Amino acid sequence: MMPISPLPALRGLLFVLLLALTGCQPTPPAQTRIQGKTMGTYYVVTLSDPFPGGEPALKEEVERLLARMNKEISTYDPASLISRFNQGPANAPMAIPTAMARIVQQGIDAGHLTGGKLDVTVGPLVNLWGFGPDKRPVKRPDAQAINDARQRVGIDKLTLLSQGDHFLLGKSIPDLYLDLSTLGEGAASDEIAALLEGKGVNNYLIEVAGAVRSKGNNSKGKPWKVAIVEPSDQPGAFSDVVSPNGMALSTAGSYRNYYELDGKRYSHIIDPATGQPITHKLVSASVITPTALEADALDTALMVMGPEQAMAFAKAHQLAVYLIVKSGDGFKAQYTPQFALYLAREKS
Ligand code: FAD
Repeated sequence: MMPISPLPALRGLLFVLLLALTGCQPTPPAQTRIQGKTMGTYYVVTLSDPFPGGEPALKEEVERLLARMNKEISTYDPASLISRFNQGPANAPMAIPTAMARIVQQGIDAGHLTGGKLDVTVGPLVNLWGFGPDKRPVKRPDAQAINDARQRVGIDKLTLLSQGDHFLLGKSIPDLYLDLSTLGEGAASDEIAALLEGKGVNNYLIEVAGAVRSKGNNSKGKPWKVAIVEPSDQPGAFSDVVSPNGMALSTAGSYRNYYELDGKRYSHIIDPATGQPITHKLVSASVITPTALEADALDTALMVMGPEQAMAFAKAHQLAVYLIVKSGDGFKAQYTPQFALYLAREKS
């Protein structure tokens, strides 16, 4: 077995590259920028409006928000709310905060919309294949182990009920394992955006791993630009440049987070229908929607679908989608007309 993915902390930044970081433009002094580690990855927040208290206050507030989210939805923290839910009994609904309920509801909705391609109960399979908090497998899981794990998967075994001012999260089998890892970064981008807007900041670019939220302009008065990184070995190579114009952009990919076992490559994205990591030629999917949470749910589902089904789904739902597909020794990009509206190739 040869783990060859980069550190989890680097993954997100490798999917999308904020152009402000590429050295293309010198950093203007009016810009406020903080970065740090969260959720096993990185976050970067750049503002061209002042933040009350400056960078130290911004960093403190953002990190307090992220710490609270980790305490709610991190399966890597055995004491988090989600871990307590996963360890708890069946048919004993647990009260959860509104912010966490929003993420679970998005997971359930996207699960229905995508015919189960996104499944927030896929955790037993993620862990079996060695991509969760558990260790990597020393050998490929056998059919029996995959089948056993699949018995524990399915959003029909999960319930979310609104009760007055709170929400109740329940499960019908004791060993259901809720895994919101695929949605956490998008949710965090949205929550940071809400924090900023609550402080009167209307010009910002936020990235938490591959999930970006943007609004307004950069400190030069121009729209923010984000690069979609090409999945090649060339450092800094990017496939296209996007100006999200107040929207959210999220990218999922199979080419950074994987390992090799007995000469075969295993990606961290699992097809719930087979219980196995995806094997097709779609290497990255980017989606633009109003919220990063929605985009983060859809990009993973598209990755499960594979190139043809993902493009058909995007067209049927009129989504702004950009796919990178392995083609021979290189890569081919294809995108919907809705995504073309955000491409910023020729613009300076
Ligand atoms: P995405 O494509 O956004 O999501 C892929 C992930 O979703 C997979 O890794 C798997 O977990 C899950 N998944 C796979 N297939 C499906 C499917 N069909 N449907 C639904 N979900 C699927 N990682 C660490 O290494 N250490 C940490 O301490 C850590 N803490 C975290 C705390 C929080 C609150 C969250 C949300 C995540 C944390 N992670 C941690 C996980 C990590 O940051 C990423 O979420 C994970 O590596 C995948 O994110 P991605 O953007 O690379 O891929």
